[in-house]
Amino acid sequence: MSNGSNSYSTSLEPIVSLSGLHRIYQLAGEDIHAVNNVTLDVWPGQMTAVVGRSGSGKTTLLNLIAGLDTPTEGEVWVLGRNLGQMSERERLDLRLNRLGFIFQSFGLMPLLSARENIGVPLRMRGMDPKEREAQIDEALAWVGLTERAHHRPYELSGGEQQRVAIARAVAETCALVLADEPTGQLDTRTGRRVLDLLRRLVEEKGVSLLIVTHDPQVMAEADVVHEMRDGQLIETRIKNGVAVPGL
Ligand code: ADP
Ligand code: MG
Repeated sequence: MSNGSNSYSTSLEPIVSLSGLHRIYQLAGEDIHAVNNVTLDVWPGQMTAVVGRSGSGKTTLLNLIAGLDTPTEGEVWVLGRNLGQMSERERLDLRLNRLGFIFQSFGLMPLLSARENIGVPLRMRGMDPKEREAQIDEALAWVGLTERAHHRPYELSGGEQQRVAIARAVAETCALVLADEPTGQLDTRTGRRVLDLLRRLVEEKGVSLLIVTHDPQVMAEADVVHEMRDGQLIETRIKNGVAVPGL
């Protein structure tokens, strides 16, 4: 891994830990309690889902974990570090070097080819071009898109675009991937295939995956499911046979 920091912990501790987390938006003089007193741990090496209807606070929660938004109250720990005590520069470094992102709308640059899109975060890290190209090739092969390397997003199907986004996370070798409704724009069959690839990401690449979604397929596949309603965590379900420390 190319980041220079050894100050993150990776095992025997939750990869994400939220405690007493609140995010209140003020909109036209009204308080919107988007995240209301959420406390939960996400354990490494698992597929964890946060589920709930539209408006239940899932995206807000993900933004807080990514350090893209600041809690009104409470703490967010990621990879053993308290985001609230990190500088903006350190949070940027965390996002760039340790986190991967997968979005409902794929989040690819329209004018760049599949391989160029995969290379964007590696360029931002200043990775040596030879190493970068090798990582891109490997990631493209891993998602089965070697033949599509030079296609732009509009020349790819939705499922293929999402596989490019997954390849980008693979090439980044990140510890934690945050996914916001990754199957939200895909039909059931394509969604299933993307989900199978996300499962392989966890099993083969050792990535910890946190998905926020309202897709029942994802809920059925996830190892741990946290359910939110109106900003609150109302239930946590753990699949049979999945070991979760501390529970
Ligand atoms: P979900 O992702 O589960 O659909 P969100 O986290 O996007 O839910 O939104 C939770 C609540 O917070 C909703 O009521 C939404 O309208 C509100 N909300 C989200 N972002 C903002 C914002 N930037 N300003 C004001 N209200 C917001
Ligand atoms: Mg959302």
